[in-house]
Amino acid sequence: MNVHEYQAKEILARFGVAVPEGQLAESAEDARRIAESLGGRVVVKAQVHAGGRGKGGGIKLAADPDEAARHFEEIFGMTLVTPQTGAKGRVVRRVYVTRAVEIEHEYYLSVLVDRASARLLVMASAEGGVEIEKVAAEAPEKIVKVALDPTVGYTAAVGRRVGYALGLEPELVRQFVRMLGSIVRCFVETDASLVEINPLVRTPEGVLLALDAKLNFDDSGLVRHPEIRELRDTDEEDPLEVEASRSGLNYIKLDGDVGCMVNGAGLAMATMDIIDLAGSRPANFLDVGGGASKESVAAAFRILLADPDVRAVLVNIFGGIVRCDRVAEGIIAAAEEVSLDVPLVVRLQGTNAAEARRMLVESALELDVADGLDEAARKVVAAVGGAR
Ligand code: ADP
Ligand code: MG
Repeated sequence: MNVHEYQAKEILARFGVAVPEGQLAESAEDARRIAESLGGRVVVKAQVHAGGRGKGGGIKLAADPDEAARHFEEIFGMTLVTPQTGAKGRVVRRVYVTRAVEIEHEYYLSVLVDRASARLLVMASAEGGVEIEKVAAEAPEKIVKVALDPTVGYTAAVGRRVGYALGLEPELVRQFVRMLGSIVRCFVETDASLVEINPLVRTPEGVLLALDAKLNFDDSGLVRHPEIRELRDTDEEDPLEVEASRSGLNYIKLDGDVGCMVNGAGLAMATMDIIDLAGSRPANFLDVGGGASKESVAAAFRILLADPDVRAVLVNIFGGIVRCDRVAEGIIAAAEEVSLDVPLVVRLQGTNAAEARRMLVESALELDVADGLDEAARKVVAAVGGAR
């Protein structure tokens, strides 16, 4: 789960990370009042779950409260297109007004789970700011990486190593050691999967401040953090993914054109692979789960068909705990509600598969039945116009 910048900063501040003061503004008048209370010079910032806002015109410096009010008017409700939003952009529904900080230098700092080493990894660069992607692509040697030993955790030695690698003077290294310690503690105690501060800035007075903050949380850890779960903003999530999670389905939207409905995460992954192998790409990952009911199958089917990118659907069910005839019932029920206007290929194996196939063939549905996985993939790829 992601949260907004202002929420990430509130959480980080609770762990002792220094952030500039700020407040969410509800109206232009509000933005003016907040700017006044912060001394006039502020930055008005669009809050969306995507980075690159500065480049897209979602971050504006205001010299005085009047200008802050004007920036609010421009940013609130705008469709913000950034390198991370895709061409469709995001509608800005929340606007943050924060003190403008004088910046002497911008650094990049993040903590994440490195799957390769199965450790927490600290990444930092003295070339932080809005061009960090370019640094990563063109000069990766400018990013230092230090993995934390899980038996030891964070130590001042790690902080010093990163701080000196960033070229900080000894006094700032001391500040940095504390700050990184707070960030790691925040990461561990909130079950985060990513903390990213870009930029972390040094002011002319020699203070380190987090000017931007991104926090991602491990969904499986949210059960332990109801106060974080409450920060979920479904306006920022893919509407189909939101609907799927309400129906207890594991659905992730992808960029291909073959919609997949599968039971079991492993089979779902294998199905995506075999679609790719046959020459097309999956439009989604969808695991209807081991105990799929007629209702959850119907919901899954509606979600699949609501995606305009889907040009054919592959249903691949292995009936172990789930009975294939239940799945067939769900498909037939859903097809009665939503019109099925793309080709459908169905592969059912296992418990009551023959019965399910008979039900589907006898239904009014137009579909193609496959026995093997290979055959199913080939058929569905042919249905979207053949291999790419
Ligand atoms: P994004 O990463 O989405 O573009 P940031 O919050 O990092 O958004 O802002 C982009 C840039 O705007 C920063 O690199 C920084 O130069 C400037 N900026 C952001 N917040 C402030 C602030 N409070 N004071 C001064 N400059 C800021
Ligand atoms: Mg940033």
